[in-house]
Amino acid sequence: MPRKAPPRGTSPPLTGEAAPRVGIGYDSHRFALGRPLTLGGILIPSEIGLAGHSDADAICHAITDAILGAAGLGDIGEMFPDSDPANKDRDSIGMLEAAVRRLTSAGFAVNQVDVSVIAETPRLSQHRDKMRARLATALGIDSSSVSVKGKTNEGMGWIGRKEGLACIAVATLTRNR
Ligand code: MG
Repeated sequence: MPRKAPPRGTSPPLTGEAAPRVGIGYDSHRFALGRPLTLGGILIPSEIGLAGHSDADAICHAITDAILGAAGLGDIGEMFPDSDPANKDRDSIGMLEAAVRRLTSAGFAVNQVDVSVIAETPRLSQHRDKMRARLATALGIDSSSVSVKGKTNEGMGWIGRKEGLACIAVATLTRNR
């Protein structure tokens, strides 16, 4: 049966290959004295950094999982296992760029990314624009399509005790062919 035309002034729903793909990513890392604090590809001056096998950039890790998830192309742990010495202290922006290359060759393009960082410290607002620009370059999109938001956990739980921080990222992809 032929599809009924949508009401005037509205667009037909995007379905199948044309529909945008949505992915979610989560990451958390412990704070550690004497480690660098790299977030969103930016080195932030701080006495306390983040522990991890790589550079522990939780923003990059959450975004990497979000874009891989949206494309159905696995996850960051499978792409960069922490059992591999090659990933020790690895630059996470480079991991994000590798994930972008993987989804590009699978026929996807990143459309937009939104990130929430949940941490009592550090304050991210003064670094936000630099992070957005760095992430946008890695993702191959405009910085206006990258959002980084900071919020506290109202002093509750492990985040409230400043044991570490968590990031949640959502990404949308479109087909590039
Ligand atoms: Mg991580």
